[in-house]
Amino acid sequence: MEPVCKYVDLDHTLISTRLAQPGDVVPENCVVMRFAGEIYHSALRPCAHQLLARCRETGPTRMLTTATRAYSLAHNEQFQLGFAPEEIFAREDWRYNIPGAYGGHETLLLAENVCPNSLLIDDFGPTSEGGRMKRKFLGIPEERYIQIRSYEGRPEPERFKDELASILERISAMPSIPVELIAPPIVHKTSFNTMGGISF
Ligand SMILES: [Mg+2]
Repeated sequence: MEPVCKYVDLDHTLISTRLAQPGDVVPENCVVMRFAGEIYHSALRPCAHQLLARCRETGPTRMLTTATRAYSLAHNEQFQLGFAPEEIFAREDWRYNIPGAYGGHETLLLAENVCPNSLLIDDFGPTSEGGRMKRKFLGIPEERYIQIRSYEGRPEPERFKDELASILERISAMPSIPVELIAPPIVHKTSFNTMGGISF
């Protein structure tokens, strides 16, 4: 059986970022990051490296985020998160927008069901819009989605210690899906980034 792949969200899961104004005081636990003319104050979640280490003990580990590739790569480097560039699935690698009603837009997936033998760790709930899109992209049910408390750059509450222990346990215990039960992926757009080692 193939090992379970781990997908980990970036914002409010591994780091916390806040859009800042020029002159804002930089909090002690933050670094200043600049993208597209904006200034961000970003903090590494204290348990981020522990979480990633547990994921990497038992299988390939990738980032799955709605943040841009430039932002994701820069935070990966700044905080030494350890992802190879091809292990990062940023916004433009798995979804795209088309014009929607009333001048808005609709977000669609470049591919679906790309890695059913995986789990996802994310601060969003599994049934939120973002959570549902990521689950559809990976092809995983709610049981393979591990929600973690949103990290806002402040010290974690006391009860987070137990929550983290339970998350680490679930990462180690997540069962592999037998290869013969895995349905093939569905690719909607050939611009889908397959560099992350997802096999078809
Ligand atoms: Mg998030």
